[in-house]
This record gives sequence, structure tokens and C-alpha cells, in this order.
Amino acid sequence: MSLATKYRPRDFEDLVGQLAASQSLKNALEFRKIGHAYLFHGARGVGKTTMARILAKALNCVNGPTSQICNVCEHCVEISEGRATDVIEIDAASNRGIDNIRELRAQAVFAPMKSRYKVYILDEVHMLSPESFNALLKTLEEPPHHVVFIMATTELHKIPETIASRCQVFTFKKFNAREIAQRLAHILEKEQIAFERDALLPIAERGEGSLRDAISLLDQTLAFSGSDALTLAAVRESLDILPVEVYSRFVQGLRTGDLHALLNAVHELTQGGANLRIFLKDLLAYLRTVVLVSEKVEVHSLAKDEAELVAEAARAWDRQALIRVFQQLFKLNQDFSLMLSAKSSELKMSLEIALVDLVHKLKEPSVSALVGKIERLKQAIETGKAFDDTAVAPKTATAAPRESAVQPQTAAPAEPPARTAPKDAGPPPDTSTLLQKAFLAEEVAVTPESEKLFGQA
Ligand SMILES: [Zn+2]
Repeated sequence: MSLATKYRPRDFEDLVGQLAASQSLKNALEFRKIGHAYLFHGARGVGKTTMARILAKALNCVNGPTSQICNVCEHCVEISEGRATDVIEIDAASNRGIDNIRELRAQAVFAPMKSRYKVYILDEVHMLSPESFNALLKTLEEPPHHVVFIMATTELHKIPETIASRCQVFTFKKFNAREIAQRLAHILEKEQIAFERDALLPIAERGEGSLRDAISLLDQTLAFSGSDALTLAAVRESLDILPVEVYSRFVQGLRTGDLHALLNAVHELTQGGANLRIFLKDLLAYLRTVVLVSEKVEVHSLAKDEAELVAEAARAWDRQALIRVFQQLFKLNQDFSLMLSAKSSELKMSLEIALVDLVHKLKEPSVSALVGKIERLKQAIETGKAFDDTAVAPKTATAAPRESAVQPQTAAPAEPPARTAPKDAGPPPDTSTLLQKAFLAEEVAVTPESEKLFGQA
């Protein structure tokens, strides 16, 4: 039995998260305010069908309707095992036609065989055809008193308003990495498998908010590592996660504009059989973490070695440049997801060209650097002081000295030059010459972006 099946929550107490939905349903059961139609909406793997089965048990348990499910009576056991005659689960994705719903309507009028309620669980209900929705609507308008519909969907906007308005709608939230890691730890403890706590985080992250996916990944990793203990190294190997140093070095290469090191890294990755799609996704996740850490946002999902490298990168990068890198690579990631059948050599080419483009773009001054420069120029003109171009040394790729991507940055910031013009030395200098000097000093082309600012100054 898979871990996901074995550890599927069996009652309200056992549920992970979804407190709002769970509390409302428990109250409804206690006060016997049972609706005829429920609509559970949320991403995949967040517990919608699990909650539907728990609700079915709560309705039909021998002690029911109750929020205290016994899990031992005939009804509870049959529902848990998916063989209760009065709880009918329908996958709307493969039963979307009008005939399926006509059949459902014909059966729904008959009283349940042996339970209190006849419960229809319609999964992926947004997949129903328009005619099917119409037929279903007729039943929802005048539901037999013994019938409860529980519909689940990942796409609420595809449910006709006429249907949704007749349902009690519950939104299921995605799980955060910490909640998922806690559940994984709980499962491993029950299974008496030793584990490193840091090993759970990459699995939780890869689950992307879906507990079911994360538990399946845990299963897969345990099968892969084939040992009694779960280690971070085994998880990284199983999930194709490269050591964090690879991302750290890559990001450093981007910051210093070391194209040679970047292209080399891509070459080595593909030679080593790495999946570039996963690499790019994880690189984006790494960059996002650096951005958050540079903004002093607490990030819980970091292993110790990661946290140190991320903090170092956050200190070294200029925020604007970092966000530019993220946005460019994010676009590339979207392109990758459109290139479904692309070979790894084609992905490699795409990535290489994107890196060349990115490194050159990073050498153009950022808007914030230009605005800062204009501000300082304005001050210089107003006060008659000489323009001090080194007043603020930005941490952008342009300002950083070229260095090997693997070396930590050691160059000390340049000392500001001595003031050459005393305050009262003649009339204020000519603005346009100053601006030209400011831009040309770094031998950068005036881009349309900077030209716009230039014009406004
Ligand atoms: Zn029971």
C-alpha cells in the first residue's frame, strides 16, 4: 500500500490544515444543518476528496450524523475502503456526457440501500459538458431529501453560476512547505524510519503545495534510497536536485557577468545528465529565496548550508539587478514549458543564448542606478559642487569587477576621489556635459530606457 493511501486522513481530527472548511462542516453536522450540495474547490492534492469521504462517513456513520466518526462501524469501514454502495464516487473527467448524468438522476431518486444518505462525490466536476450541467441543475433544484452531492474542482471559474449558487462552497488552501514537512515527519515516525529533518524540506518544496504529491515523492525516495534512513543526500539524488553550491556558483557567475563560467556550467550540467528543465526551475526558486532574504523575509524551508549561501548572495546582489535576472529566466522557463517535446540539446541552446543576452543586459545600467545618478547630478548642479560619480557604489553587475565565478568577491570599494572643484569656483557647470560625462564615463550605450530618463531630467 502506498504511503499516500495508508496515511490518508480518516476523520476530522486526523486532517492536516483546511481548518476553516473542517470547522464549518463539523458545526453543520453538530447542528444538523446538512446541505444537499457542497462544492470543494482548491488545487490538486490539498485534500478535497479526502474531506468528501470524511463528510460521507460523518453523514452515514452509525453514530451519525456526527463530527465524531467512529471509523469502525460497517458504514465507516466500507466508505474508507471505497466499497460503500450508497457512496458513489464519479470521476467527471471520464464521465462527462449527458448520459452519465441522466443515469445519475435516475438512480438518485431511489432511497439509499442501507445508509442514512446517498452521497454522490463528483470529482473534477468542471469537466462536465454544458448539457450535463443542465441536467445536474434540475436535480440540484429539487434534490431528493436523502441525497447529498459533494463536488470537487480545481477550477471554480468553470462551474456555471447556476450550479455554484446552489452549493455551499468551500475553498481549500494549498499547504505550505512547513505543513507538508510536518506531515512527512509524522508519517516517517509512524513508519519508524529514521530521517534527517533537512531531508524533508526539498520533498515538501517539490510537492508545490500538494500533500499527496509530496507523500508520493517520499514514497519514491524511500524506494530509491532503499535504506532504513532518509538522508538529505539521498533525497537530492532521488529528486534530481543538484547540490546548492551549483546554484550558488551559477548565480555568482550571473552577478559578475562571467559568461565563460556560466556556459561552462551549462555544458557540465548536460554532460552530467542533469535535466535542464528542473535545473531552471530550481534556479528560479533559489533566486526567489535570495530576493526574499535580501528583503529580510524569513524563509523557513532552507537547509543550513543553503541558508548561508543564500545570505551571502543576498548581501552581494543589487536588488534591481537580481529581479531583472529572475524575470528574464522566468520568461525562459515559460518558453521551456511550451517546448514540451524539445530535446535536451535544444533546451541547452536556448539556455545558452538566454544567458548571453542576460549578461549583456545586466551590463546596461539599471533604472535605479540611473535615477540615483541623475539625483546626484541635480544636487551637484544645485549646490555647485563637482559631480561625484562614486558617491554610491551600486552592487550591480556593471559595478562589480570581473572575477571568476568561483571566487568570493574580495575587491574593496573604490575610494571617492578628492573634490576637485571648490564650492565657489565659477558658475554651475553645464548640465548636458555633466550628463554626457556621467553616462560615457562607464562607456555604456544610452539605451531607450536611459534616453527617456535623460529627456526628463
Ligand atoms: Zn462509523
